[in-house]
Amino acid sequence: MTEEIFRDNAYAKTCEATVTQVNEFGIQLDRTVFYAAGGGQPGDTGVLRSANGAEVVIADTIHEMGTGVHLHVPAEGAPTLTVGEAVTAEIDWDRRYAHMRMHSGLHLLCAVIEGGVTGGSIGAEKSRLDFDLPDTGLDKEQITADLNRLVDGDHAMSMRWITDDELAANPDMVRTMSVKPPMGSGRVRLIDITDVDLQPCGGTHVGRTGEIGKLRVGKIENKGRHNRRINIHIDE
Ligand SMILES: [Zn+2]
Repeated sequence: MTEEIFRDNAYAKTCEATVTQVNEFGIQLDRTVFYAAGGGQPGDTGVLRSANGAEVVIADTIHEMGTGVHLHVPAEGAPTLTVGEAVTAEIDWDRRYAHMRMHSGLHLLCAVIEGGVTGGSIGAEKSRLDFDLPDTGLDKEQITADLNRLVDGDHAMSMRWITDDELAANPDMVRTMSVKPPMGSGRVRLIDITDVDLQPCGGTHVGRTGEIGKLRVGKIENKGRHNRRINIHIDE
């Protein structure tokens, strides 16, 4: 298993690590700052630098199908690394930070829209959530204003782990149960936006909602009778 440094510290840009496996899909490290694609958030890109000066550009980070192994996918033509080699892992921070801000913005969207979330996707330019809602005439301007009120409130966003048993015993603890928490591993990671929202999530987020920046609701699409897709953008 890979120690996932980004789970406890989303702001870690670099770490020292050792190559533990190399297979046809990618490179596994004993620890990493690279987020592996999941929960609608893309995998990180960046570079692994070996002690002998080799630079391996990483084009994506994934969980290997079936095994869940955390793999750094080298770009085509990148030099190969060998098991046991020491590397410095460094993510493309600008891209990741954009994902952190967007991802956090989607938590705010969850908080201002009633209705279960049925899907979502995070991108540096545009992100979206799908809600299980009838055609309720959602008001773009109103949602934008609600989102920016929460951004301006600069609420703290923090993370904590609870046990499956604690969650089962306190179902009301999580107000926005949009995604079924991944139970079974014994513990669940909660993202708490003080006074705004609490929900299980494995992604990377900013520390305060003020960091997200000014949000704007883009297209609201009807994707079926009970599916409203809301797109958001960050205006710099
Ligand atoms: Zn999240």
